[in-house]
Amino acid sequence: VGGWIDPVTASADIDLDAYAANLTALAAHVAPAELMAVIKADGYGHGLMACARAARAVGVRWLGVATPGEAMALREAGDTGRLLCWLYGPEEDLTALVASDVDVSASSVEQVGDLVAAAATAERTARVHLKIDTGLHRNGAHPDDWPAVVGAAAEAERFGAVEVVGVWSHLASAEELDHPSVAAQLDAFDEALAVARAEGLDPRTNHLANSAGALQLPRSRHQLVRVGIATFGVDPGDGVAASAGVALRPVMRLRAQLVNVKPVRAGGGVSYGHTWVAPHDTVVGLVPLGYGDGVPRHAGSVAEVWVGGRRAPVRGRICMDQFVVELGPDAQDRVGDEVVLFGAEPAPTAEEWGRVCGTIGYEIVTRVGARVPRRHV
Ligand code: PLP
Repeated sequence: VGGWIDPVTASADIDLDAYAANLTALAAHVAPAELMAVIKADGYGHGLMACARAARAVGVRWLGVATPGEAMALREAGDTGRLLCWLYGPEEDLTALVASDVDVSASSVEQVGDLVAAAATAERTARVHLKIDTGLHRNGAHPDDWPAVVGAAAEAERFGAVEVVGVWSHLASAEELDHPSVAAQLDAFDEALAVARAEGLDPRTNHLANSAGALQLPRSRHQLVRVGIATFGVDPGDGVAASAGVALRPVMRLRAQLVNVKPVRAGGGVSYGHTWVAPHDTVVGLVPLGYGDGVPRHAGSVAEVWVGGRRAPVRGRICMDQFVVELGPDAQDRVGDEVVLFGAEPAPTAEEWGRVCGTIGYEIVTRVGARVPRRHV
């Protein structure tokens, strides 16, 4: 459970049945491509280990994380399946990853060299996924450097230091199918694959798609898709899953009890700075979660919660540990009532919170803080 709040008072409830159902639906949708469940950043806030176990239990063969620390935490917890790690610094020792049978990404000749060194120390072959930058201009080899990267990997493969598992890249705008970057990246990826093959490589597990690509861009699927946000039941864009015919269930429900309920007279200012002033006599309730728990400060006076079978607006600023909602003039003392900040409809969704707070559902779920206990149900 974890966290520093009593789980009865407030918790992020994680519906692992919904997670399993989403994984199963997405795997069926992308077949014959295989699904990698991306569980970086503590499983997008849902809990790294619980998500790993749930994914393996429904037959997910590949997990994906960003950092070596995340990969090693999974290995130390006993996960032995295929696992790809893709973001590390120039000083990082990759030996433990290679020794622990973690697949590692390389975006440069230097990183291929680091993996060769790690393979020598670990006395085993390093499994590498070569990353090409097809236009996101984030990680990955520049196309001008790509022949050198695949050349170095091909040479290392010939003497058994590495096995090139696949070529991979990441999409910039797969949630917007008519964005010009989409076609350009698909073409650039095919060219990068052709260059790798011309260098004598035979990459068999190539991957480009994220959630949006996996859902609506069949040409991006190749042999493997790296799906994060959709597995958590949050849409990667605006109705992408629904238009692809995939029904997703929200996995996280952020909830709390009302801990204080009181009347406010017309003209009474609420929370720091009195940015909201009651226009009429009303009743407000206190929710014991704040920006210290990842509730965006931008939610002040714009987001809504679900309480007592209806929506209630957030009033005034979000504080570090708490915020105020308006229950309405006729509300009774409802201390102890459950408030759902976001979850499955009819409560507001994480996507809705993202929209009204000027961010995305990804950030809403991922930022839920370490103080909030996770209850895996
Ligand atoms: N692949 C990489 C390299 C990523 O950084 C991410 C997450 O941002 C994903 C895949 C999964 O993306 P999504 O959550 O949109 O499915």
